[in-house]
Amino acid sequence: MGLFGGRRTVFVDADILVIGGGMAGCGATYESRYWGRDLKIVCVEKANIERSGAVAQGLYAINCYMGMQWGENQPEDHVRYARNDLMGLVREDLGYDIARHVDSTVHKFEEWGLPIMRDPKTGRYQREGKWQIMIHGESYKPIVAEAARKAATQVYNRIMVTHLLMDATKPNRVAGAVGFNVRTGEFHVFRAKAVIVSAGGASHIFKPRAVGEGMGRTWYAPWSSASAYGLPILVGAKMTQMENRIVLTRFKDGYGPVGAYFLHLKTYTENGYGEEYEKRWYEDTKALVGDYVDRHPVPTCLRNHALLKEVAAGRGPIRMVTKEAFQDPHKEVVGWENFLGMTIGQAVVWASQNIDPKHTNPELTTSEPYVMGSHATCSGAWASGPEDYAPAEYQWGYNRMMTVDGLFGAGDTIGGTAHKFSSGSFTEGRIAGKAAVNYVKDLKNGQPQVSEQEYRDLEKEIYQPLENYRVGRNEIVAGTVSPSYLLPLHGLQRLEKIMDEYVGGISTMYMTNGVLLERGLELLALLKEDMSRMGAEDLHQLQRVWELHHRLIASEAVARHTLYREETRWPGYYYRGDHPKLDDQNWHCFTLSRYDRKTGEWAMEKAPVYHIID
Ligand SMILES: Cc1cc2nc3c(=O)[nH]c(=O)nc-3n(C[C@H](O)[C@H](O)[C@H](O)COP(=O)(O)OP(=O)(O)OC[C@H]3O[C@@H](n4cnc5c(N)ncnc54)[C@H](O)[C@@H]3O)c2cc1C
Repeated sequence: MGLFGGRRTVFVDADILVIGGGMAGCGATYESRYWGRDLKIVCVEKANIERSGAVAQGLYAINCYMGMQWGENQPEDHVRYARNDLMGLVREDLGYDIARHVDSTVHKFEEWGLPIMRDPKTGRYQREGKWQIMIHGESYKPIVAEAARKAATQVYNRIMVTHLLMDATKPNRVAGAVGFNVRTGEFHVFRAKAVIVSAGGASHIFKPRAVGEGMGRTWYAPWSSASAYGLPILVGAKMTQMENRIVLTRFKDGYGPVGAYFLHLKTYTENGYGEEYEKRWYEDTKALVGDYVDRHPVPTCLRNHALLKEVAAGRGPIRMVTKEAFQDPHKEVVGWENFLGMTIGQAVVWASQNIDPKHTNPELTTSEPYVMGSHATCSGAWASGPEDYAPAEYQWGYNRMMTVDGLFGAGDTIGGTAHKFSSGSFTEGRIAGKAAVNYVKDLKNGQPQVSEQEYRDLEKEIYQPLENYRVGRNEIVAGTVSPSYLLPLHGLQRLEKIMDEYVGGISTMYMTNGVLLERGLELLALLKEDMSRMGAEDLHQLQRVWELHHRLIASEAVARHTLYREETRWPGYYYRGDHPKLDDQNWHCFTLSRYDRKTGEWAMEKAPVYHIID
């Protein structure tokens, strides 16, 4: 096959195109079929939906379940909880919308065969914490994927979506997407009336703690490559809270989860000298954030803050005290199973480092920052809210539609709504799917028009790195060093270094300031210039190139939002050295950005936070 000739173009027409078949994408596909019986619903995924996305390995707990059937929690309680954890800033309309529907999603999972643990005394779902229920979840993703597969007109696996297509006749309307098959190289043109982006969050935009041989060992899935942000940003969709990156406290080197240990096994942490340390930092934290430190539960970022301060004071490492709990054989089993169902790597790391938590208290560390919209963080696209609940200013169309017509999002893609997790992401997919069906039905004959010129130009751009490599490899000077092209791994490492050193990564203890951010943006602009010189040896590397494109534009959004918000709202996630305190008077608001693809300029603005729930 020649590089620009002989490659087959596959055209796919859909009413609804779902990009990314993870939790939210499966929810969107399933629900679109429910409301749109006669519609053509297509799901496109870069891996295989059977085992793709952040839930690929399985999970041990569903972290968002109200338990309304037993009067355990109400949706309002969840909104208060998420608002508290995010230091006051969440889209309460969107969060409420998920919380009121999430239980029905979990009941469906159980119906489809997901084993949910039950409390033998009450018969209710076994709680791990106030919002979490415990599951035997190794097969969580295949179970959810089966529902989507049965609902979809067709699922296209192994297609890396690189760009969205815009309507040739209407300036702000989406018309589909393009991408390529990572196995065959075929070019795919999807024409669709509505598009739902559900492509997960972003790892590997900041330099990870584990580099070299351990590079893939990050908390967040290494394949979560920021397409959820890159695709909408490039067509001018507004983004929100992109500065709100998340840093996780996890078991060192394996990133095994700590939630079950705290909540279920009742373990606790101590410093290197066996002392309790969180209380020591109370006054310091209060001086930064005021009363937020007195909230219950203490916001996630503030707990990180105490750990970071203690380590910086020279009293590390911080350890999880497991030796006591693990004397109970039941708790010991639960402690190990907690990893074996979802983070097997942690058990392997412990084995390789001679750590038996029954005899050694394992170390904890803080991760590099990640960008996502569904965990204890809320970066993502700015979306229209539910008709019956959202304030007028948050409503410009259909529920979960972005600021681009016909472009919807769910899960990690949508900003402002933290703590949705796996069940909430699936639920938000369902909400977006239903709204997209309404959009398509209302369109009637207003079918979007795709310009052949546009997708043929994109085709050339997409495959160019193969050509760059083919020509440039003849000039290799040593090993993989070529004067003419940049390999995707080199580009990725450059990006990670810039973000790490200038935008608040691990090497600066999450510290940045206006001067550093301005310089970081200059360096990102230089990397952007070099992106036309990427070289790809094969289709796998070509996928890496396009993942890097998405990571880069999302990183730029992170840097711009961080520069715009002149305060330190979430100490423990990142710090602005020039604005070290939380500033509710000026910054109790959302930050919004919009990228103009014609000029390459970004416009920043504030949007009000409406507190709908007392
Ligand atoms: C380490 C970790 C632990 C977690 N633990 C829990 C837990 O215990 N309980 C819980 O309830 N939740 C947990 N979560 C949260 C949960 O996994 C996420 O909330 C959920 O997966 C988000 O759904 P999503 O669909 O937005 O993203 P994902 O499920 O990640 O799906 C995104 C999909 O998009 C695809 N994709 C990406 N880019 C492209 C592209 N360009 N073209 C085509 N396809 C693309 C991906 O391959 C993937 O299939 C955890 C998350 C992480 C990262």
